[in-house]
Amino acid sequence: MSELSEAIQFGLRCATDIIRGSRRAVVLSGAGISTPSGIPDFRSPDSGLWEHFDPFEVASLTSFRHNPANFYEWMRGLARLILDAQPNPAHFSLAKLQQSGYVQTIITQNIDSLHQRAGSHNVLEVHGSLETLSCTGCYQRVRGQDYVEAFVERAEMPYCPKCGAILKPDLVLMGEQLPAKTWLQAMQASKNCDLMIVAGSSLEVLPVAGLPMRALENGARLILINYTKTYLDVRADVVFHEDVAEILPLIVKQVTRAE
Ligand SMILES: [Zn+2]
Repeated sequence: MSELSEAIQFGLRCATDIIRGSRRAVVLSGAGISTPSGIPDFRSPDSGLWEHFDPFEVASLTSFRHNPANFYEWMRGLARLILDAQPNPAHFSLAKLQQSGYVQTIITQNIDSLHQRAGSHNVLEVHGSLETLSCTGCYQRVRGQDYVEAFVERAEMPYCPKCGAILKPDLVLMGEQLPAKTWLQAMQASKNCDLMIVAGSSLEVLPVAGLPMRALENGARLILINYTKTYLDVRADVVFHEDVAEILPLIVKQVTRAE
């Protein structure tokens, strides 16, 4: 994208006007915002994480209960990528939009905490994160930091310091409910916003993919930035089928330019 096409320039102007005119914008981010940071979409069969594993055998709640060692063996590769990853220009741009008062809440499907590391606050991690782990025996919650590195570096399985049962990262596995409180907040934010910006999500994973529809039904505008098409392209005010790490900085530059 060395030279901006007219269509992109027009889209940037529209997006800028919409963002400047909004009062309660919410962002929904997905895997596409973290792929430029080297984290593959772990739900995608092309991610490289599934070469020796069947997702339904390792990353589901049932299989975790039956065979946590298998889950952790798979998780180690992803956890290493997350530990090594740095936020990219898309994360920093959203943090800047938030600091400038244009964005209130960021709802993310990602488990890598890169939004927070880029300086964002009020981040709703609807699929959980590695920041905390919970005991499968006594439900005590512990800080991920104390366990994730030992596990990535030395394959040490995390056990509860209190009761000795296996700890499970607080991320949402297949077949598992979303964290109730966070999900409620995400639904509320989607209902109350006057603009939703979808950044790097192809809107395929339910129930999160339904949030922009909820926003539209309540009169919000919609800006979509995703490489591939989504089911809501036809309903959006502006659509970019581009790299979110290239488009977002351009938008933010225009939005925060002296008026
Ligand atoms: Zn315990």
